[in-house]
Amino acid sequence: MSLLKSDRCKHCKTHRGYRFCQRIGGGICWHDCNVLRVDFGCPEGCKYSLKKTEQFQLKTNADSQTEYRDLLRRQMNIWIETPQELLDGDVPADLAETPEGRRRLQTLLDGFPGSDVVPMAYLYKKLRLDASKLMAAAKNPEDVAVLFVKKCIVQDWDGAMELLSLAPHLQDPVYQTRYREMLANNKTIARFKEYDIISSAMSEEKNRILVHFEMNGKYDLTIGLVLVDGQWLVAGKILGKPEIYNGENEAIQQVALMLSKNDLGNVFPLLKKYSEIYVDSADFQYYWGLYYTFSHQEKKARMFMLNASTLDPTFVEALYNYAYMLHAAGELDEAETRYRKILSIDPEEPKTLNNLASICMEDKRLDEARELYKKCLALRPDFEIAQKNLEKLEELEN
Ligand SMILES: [Zn+2]
Repeated sequence: MSLLKSDRCKHCKTHRGYRFCQRIGGGICWHDCNVLRVDFGCPEGCKYSLKKTEQFQLKTNADSQTEYRDLLRRQMNIWIETPQELLDGDVPADLAETPEGRRRLQTLLDGFPGSDVVPMAYLYKKLRLDASKLMAAAKNPEDVAVLFVKKCIVQDWDGAMELLSLAPHLQDPVYQTRYREMLANNKTIARFKEYDIISSAMSEEKNRILVHFEMNGKYDLTIGLVLVDGQWLVAGKILGKPEIYNGENEAIQQVALMLSKNDLGNVFPLLKKYSEIYVDSADFQYYWGLYYTFSHQEKKARMFMLNASTLDPTFVEALYNYAYMLHAAGELDEAETRYRKILSIDPEEPKTLNNLASICMEDKRLDEARELYKKCLALRPDFEIAQKNLEKLEELEN
């Protein structure tokens, strides 16, 4: 037990204790670090010790905005109970007891510049002030990540899906159903009960962020968010640490190489390992689709091609394979819908034009079929199958 728990915080024994505390002499969590350092009593040599700066700003290190805002709230709690020079030595908590005192507090606090990091709303609420003038700050990305995680914990999959950058694509009912199933069927995600933010890292352009969580005191979860029209949305998640978030491409290449050598025995464990980490990777779903195609398991292959198209609705090869499998199985209506979807992304995809034409031909929509064949052959004059199909169509008409 002690061995298993060795990465826990020396103070609370609950959270991950990845930060060495010189006061306690062991690894602690950021929550307890905040409890300790807020008194300005930490050794200056610790990079997490506090240095006084301006009001409601602290010079220190924090691994996430959530941690920093927690620290500010703790500092605000102290501020409220301490005589303030800016208020002629009065204590804010005392002033908050009278209308006149609240007016003085309001004037002072309304004068502070707004920020989406400083939790001014917390201070206003504590002092019972009117917060209507506070900027309705855009939702902080870490808050969005936390909201997503909470939705997963209560298994509100539809609520979680509303927070995705993929949400507009998931309006397609086929994708929507499939995405919901993928979330619900993930055994690790289904076990989520508790969360703790470990750290976050913003891109230089400030339009992407990775938020690292520890779930249930043991699983790593990294959520990537992207800023779209001033709104933070969940772009993807991996069941792993942020260091490997960008390792996906390398893993993809490794799998692709093995598949190209038809090395199915070795590809299976590798695909399993990577797709359990990169749960939102369309590529790994696509490779599963190829794997099951090569091993002649039609039904599974089809499902994975649908997964890939769901995770990346612009992934033409996956879409084409899925549509073609429907077509081959005689599900012509759905195949046609999917072929048309491909043409809405890539209107000049020759295989799609040819296959859609043959569905039209079977359905006696001959004019439409002819037009599609002609378009296909104009783009690819050497496409023999399309050429033969068109000849067949013309025979049919004569
Ligand atoms: Zn702790």
